[in-house]
Amino acid sequence: MGKEELMRKLEEKIKNCRKCPLWELRTNAVPGSGSYDAKVMFVGEAPGYWEDQKGLPFVGRAGKVLDELLREIGLSRDEVYITNIVKCRPPENRDPTEEEIKACSPYLDRQIDIIRPKVIVPLGRHSMRYILEKFGFPVEPISRIHGKTFEAHTLFGRIVIMPSYHPAAALYRPQIKEELRRDFKKLGGLLKGLS
Ligand code: URA
Ligand code: SF4
Repeated sequence: MGKEELMRKLEEKIKNCRKCPLWELRTNAVPGSGSYDAKVMFVGEAPGYWEDQKGLPFVGRAGKVLDELLREIGLSRDEVYITNIVKCRPPENRDPTEEEIKACSPYLDRQIDIIRPKVIVPLGRHSMRYILEKFGFPVEPISRIHGKTFEAHTLFGRIVIMPSYHPAAALYRPQIKEELRRDFKKLGGLLKGLS
């Protein structure tokens, strides 16, 4: 089976999933969007109001920030893959619980295995923690390790992990926005080095 078919099947599974209580409250599950051949995968936390309404990741205010950051380094949404650790919206946009992350993260693991990105950018500390632990790296505060790179070795080759802040954190904090900009610039350089 090719990537396209594997991903479509997985997306169907996510849309019909009832593995944790969040399914009862969702309008739409949000599997992810973008290219299945993407070199870079962005991993946010969980859908918010607009994501749940539309079934697409990062389409609300945080999404506007992400779009701007991508544009500044010459990337469009069609050439990257964007998803979250948890695929259904937690009520009142609260943080996802450990149980929800545990129930849902196998979908993210599978997306990584199918897409085989060269670079993973966890956005925000929950996603950073999940990805770093998954690949066996120690977790540190995001203020210390955003923009740093970690090299993971997988069965299908090397993956570079570069955590950054969650774009929503930049909405009212210009300093964080600047840090995000700097991290994305570095990401742009990393990606150039790959092609
Ligand atoms: N915040 C996230 O973490 N993910 C989204 O998809 C939207 C907002
Ligand atoms: Fe299933 Fe994940 Fe949605 Fe929970 S959040 S119902 S595990 S898709």
